[in-house]
Amino acid sequence: TDLQKHFPIRRGLLQRQVGAVQAVDGLTFSVKRGETLSLVGESGCGKTTTGRLLTRLIEPTGGKVTLDGRDITHLSSGAMRPLRRDIQMIFQDPYGSLNPRHTVGAIIGAPFRLQKVKTEHGVKRAVQELLELVGLSPEHYNRYPHEFSGGQRQRIGIARTLALRPKVIVADEPVSALDVSIQAQVVNLMEDLQNEFDLTYVIIAHDLSVVRHVSDRVAVMYLGKIMELADRTSLYERPMHPYTVALLSAVPIPDTARRDNRERIRLTGDVPSPINPPSGCRFHTRCWKAQEVCKTTEPPLAELAPGHQAACHFPENTTKLTIDPTGSAA
Ligand code: SF4
Repeated sequence: TDLQKHFPIRRGLLQRQVGAVQAVDGLTFSVKRGETLSLVGESGCGKTTTGRLLTRLIEPTGGKVTLDGRDITHLSSGAMRPLRRDIQMIFQDPYGSLNPRHTVGAIIGAPFRLQKVKTEHGVKRAVQELLELVGLSPEHYNRYPHEFSGGQRQRIGIARTLALRPKVIVADEPVSALDVSIQAQVVNLMEDLQNEFDLTYVIIAHDLSVVRHVSDRVAVMYLGKIMELADRTSLYERPMHPYTVALLSAVPIPDTARRDNRERIRLTGDVPSPINPPSGCRFHTRCWKAQEVCKTTEPPLAELAPGHQAACHFPENTTKLTIDPTGSAA
């Protein structure tokens, strides 16, 4: 709720703060049990920072994170320890996230050993079961990460994440480092595990084709804010925010008739700096629909259709709507 993370910029011998990177700036969203919510946007939009805030790897500058109705934002590490079981993270890089000097048994068994929840014999049995669950062999227990392919390493990372039976998994670009041929296997494995264990996923991604396949709802982020949030079908079929329209115009679609009718929108210019983001609508420096009001007045994230929110003064795919600054549509 209203989640915010500003990283201070310090200069000089006295390390005086001279500004802040507004990585995440007032996000409010919820994720339902068993749901997959994807956070998408160009690099630097704040999606990875959001994932780290949700898993309490970093502290927010403002706002709060609640899990099952409990505010976990400022719990001490001791109070957080039992909850660490509930929220786990899958990392992007299946090469860098596994310690090359540790065996698979040590890597997947680490959460059990840290939480002291099993005997050594129990850990070995549990790890071997997890290896089978993710499509590897119990005989891989004593092997090292370098003996596996990228896809297999991501399976090892997923097995480690599942060890303590989490409720929520935040997956940061879980397949982007993998060959396209392997991506589908890992996505299918994640879906099977979600069904089996009633997992809730927050997936951080930039590949909109993968996101379309895996998500129930999608939040599109730009410069630390949510620009649009909707269920998958509404977002892909009736995008309202010009930024989403531009992102989707670059996604290949199999339907030839629709593909022929579609206009590719090329965004000009770079994403502005999050140190000094544009006034009003943060997207106005790159938006082809921008008008004077966009430069001065920030559009609220408003529900413009049931379950479909967008932050834009002149949204697409809506029947004539006027948005007032309090966020209601008429
Ligand atoms: Fe574009 Fe204005 Fe909408 Fe921002 S508020 S996305 S600048 S039309």
